[in-house]
Amino acid sequence: MKTSIQKLRKFFRLEAEREYDNKAVMGGLSNILSAWEMEAREDQLSEQIIQAVISRLRDYHRLSEDSREVVLKGVWQRVSRETGVESETQKQPPVTKQPKSQPEPEPGQPKNPEPAAAPEPEKSEPVPQAPTPKKDPPKPILDLDFQAPITTIKGIGEKKQEALKRMGIQSINDLLYTFPRRHDDYSKLKPIGSLWYGEFVTVIGSVKSVSSRAVRSGKMKIVEALISDKSGAIRATWFNQPWIENQLIKAKQVVLSGLVEQYLGRLVMNSPEWEPLSKKQLHTNRIVPVYPLTKDVTQKWLRGVIHDIVEEYSPHLPDPLPENIRANHSLSNLPDAIREIHFPDSDQSLQKAKQRLAFEELFLMQMGVLSQKKQWESRSGTAFESSEDWLLPQLESLPFKLTNAQKKALDQVRADLSSGTPMNRLLQGDVGSGKTVVAALAALIVIHGGAQAAFLAPTSILAEQHFQSLKKLLTQGSGDLAEIQIALLIGATPENEKEDIRKQLADGEIKLIIGTHALLQDPVKFQNLQLAIIDEQHRFGVEQRGILRQKGNNPHLLVMTATPIPRSLALTIYGDLELSVIDEMPPGRIPVETHLLNPSEIERAFGLVRGQVDKGNQAFIVYPLVEESDKVDEKSAVDEFNRLQEEVFPNYKLGLLHGQLNPAEKEEVMIRFRDKEIQIMVSTSIVEVGLDIPDATVMLVEGAHRFGLAQLHQFRGRVGRSDQKSYCILVPGTIEEIENQRLQAMVDTNDGFVLAEKDLEIRGPGQFLGTRQSGYTELKLASITDLDLIERARTEASTIFKQDPDLSQENHHQLAKAVKEFWTQKNTGDIS
Ligand code: ADP
Ligand code: MG
Repeated sequence: MKTSIQKLRKFFRLEAEREYDNKAVMGGLSNILSAWEMEAREDQLSEQIIQAVISRLRDYHRLSEDSREVVLKGVWQRVSRETGVESETQKQPPVTKQPKSQPEPEPGQPKNPEPAAAPEPEKSEPVPQAPTPKKDPPKPILDLDFQAPITTIKGIGEKKQEALKRMGIQSINDLLYTFPRRHDDYSKLKPIGSLWYGEFVTVIGSVKSVSSRAVRSGKMKIVEALISDKSGAIRATWFNQPWIENQLIKAKQVVLSGLVEQYLGRLVMNSPEWEPLSKKQLHTNRIVPVYPLTKDVTQKWLRGVIHDIVEEYSPHLPDPLPENIRANHSLSNLPDAIREIHFPDSDQSLQKAKQRLAFEELFLMQMGVLSQKKQWESRSGTAFESSEDWLLPQLESLPFKLTNAQKKALDQVRADLSSGTPMNRLLQGDVGSGKTVVAALAALIVIHGGAQAAFLAPTSILAEQHFQSLKKLLTQGSGDLAEIQIALLIGATPENEKEDIRKQLADGEIKLIIGTHALLQDPVKFQNLQLAIIDEQHRFGVEQRGILRQKGNNPHLLVMTATPIPRSLALTIYGDLELSVIDEMPPGRIPVETHLLNPSEIERAFGLVRGQVDKGNQAFIVYPLVEESDKVDEKSAVDEFNRLQEEVFPNYKLGLLHGQLNPAEKEEVMIRFRDKEIQIMVSTSIVEVGLDIPDATVMLVEGAHRFGLAQLHQFRGRVGRSDQKSYCILVPGTIEEIENQRLQAMVDTNDGFVLAEKDLEIRGPGQFLGTRQSGYTELKLASITDLDLIERARTEASTIFKQDPDLSQENHHQLAKAVKEFWTQKNTGDIS
């Protein structure tokens, strides 16, 4: 045993023999610290341990005797665990799994005179520890079933099972992976006499008195206790938990953790976490996990359950990450990470655990994505040739010349289509960059080859718009496609027409169908669907993509998005898709001029709107009304509309678009706007997606601070779609919001990719990509903003995948299993 550790043990033993009177060392235990620190360094103890010992012993003299006992035992547990001395000193075999079948140590047992020599893990132990020494990873025990239902746990019956199920917890494994929402640091044990108002602390003391009284004419009951140690006393109160009164009386000695508050000039603790001193300290005196809860599941209960499960099971968790990868990136092993993410020893170790688990998530995701890609590539698809001879006249007949970026994307698509493997491509391009025409040409190629194509849009307005423009774009050229071979299928399509369309799809008369979710419905069948196009793909879930694909036989797939995400991120989230980027705007576009106005300057914005409309242009005015909150939305949209029409724009024709209109009504308003019967469109955020109104030159966004950057950028994309100068006016709700970083970023750049990076920086990806985006939102820990970690996980995954694509090597068995579990958990057979 190292000298420094021997010394600690010696002093701790002496202290224990003297019942913690702090006289084992002259001048008190903290006197040993400076000498000990040097020795420990010489012994090369880890810096973490050294710091832990020092920080815990520094205030030793100020603690009550009970607290001292707790502290010394805790420190010793930690030291012995991390240095592996336990096995040398412990006479009993290490406690392995089945703590539940062991009798609990008697509460109120006499103080253990030799904490150092024989620490009892079940008693007074501030830091739950791995039951087996670290150095020697435990062999998985055969009967340890991580998939076992939670009802196999003592104390979980049907009712709890139901409740936990609501949280998505069904198995032991689910419990291990139910991560805390946050942690509260109660590890700062303090004498009561030196507490400060506003601190989060843990104190240990005796219960001097307990009383309870009713308040609010008997509706509420308050339990009040006076807890004291040598240095002082503090009052603690609990509301509406009358049972606490008896528990406190029985406990005599308690540990309280919580916020120190002030009441009538005295320090108090309101509803602190507490537990009797004799129990192992799980809820107090440590960094405490705080879990998400549901009805019938209390924090204390869940914490207890998870703690037991973590202790029993986590040491035996097989680690899917190969050791060399762990070593390369200094990642902790899985048992440590799981234990530390629940019950961390320190903030540092918590961060380390998170890092490790986040890496694992990204890594498993990437492995899954890669194997999906491989699987996809192993299928065969119908090859569609598009000769230059045929293509050129098609391009000639378009109303414009393709940009170079569009040409490049088209060439990539053509190569995919003719390859004999189903295309699986993401077409990314900023708002207005002209993605539609590329998709349209892809459809034409497939139709030219005798098959059918489907074009899925997220809203009926957009589907309708695509329907109109595709008809125009595609029926001018070769004669491969006639107007009657193109159809629109949306929710509002009358049932008899739907019937007709289905029939014509099934017998192949319709070559190109454009539609919304209605397309995905069961009765829709194709004669020979060979290309599925999905516009604004982030609006759809993966399932929907899968359904559309199922309607053909390995059809080619082209998904489009205007959500600009950084390349490394795209490769991670959509790693199974090939990526085409249209990074160039059609010529003649004048960048939209963006202004940020003070709320009091709104009249200037209205003036601009009038001026533009007088020139024959059109305008959008967007209000920050939340689409989901039904009634409120409708009322305020209508109110706002009436006010604008009557007071601000009495001489202009206004239209109103909001989420509570039915699809037919929405469409009607949009058509009237497109046909210029409406000059100013007042709208909620639903105008965001894809609309193309070339004469709209003003986008006025009120309450602009309430929108995300991506959304603002999409709004702005509704204007500036012609060669006329356009304006985007952002008016936040209050003057202070003028400083808003997002709004400033909008003024600074028109480039969607720059904004995407910016937004990632400001808020993280969840928001930017929209909540409906799938694939990565299931990530529990990894932050998509951590591009560095993403890169590393991706690189490692690719390396392994190259060496062993089926993960059949011996040392990849665990990994193969984990990848499979990761992906089946998400129920996504189709992840593209
Ligand atoms: P998005 O990429 O946002 O879906 P669209 O495909 O709707 O963009 O195109 C935006 C507008 O630009 C449409 O009116 C379209 O007709 C026009 N457009 C597309 N490509 C070109 C081009 N190469 N030259 C001129 N206009 C183009
Ligand atoms: Mg579009």
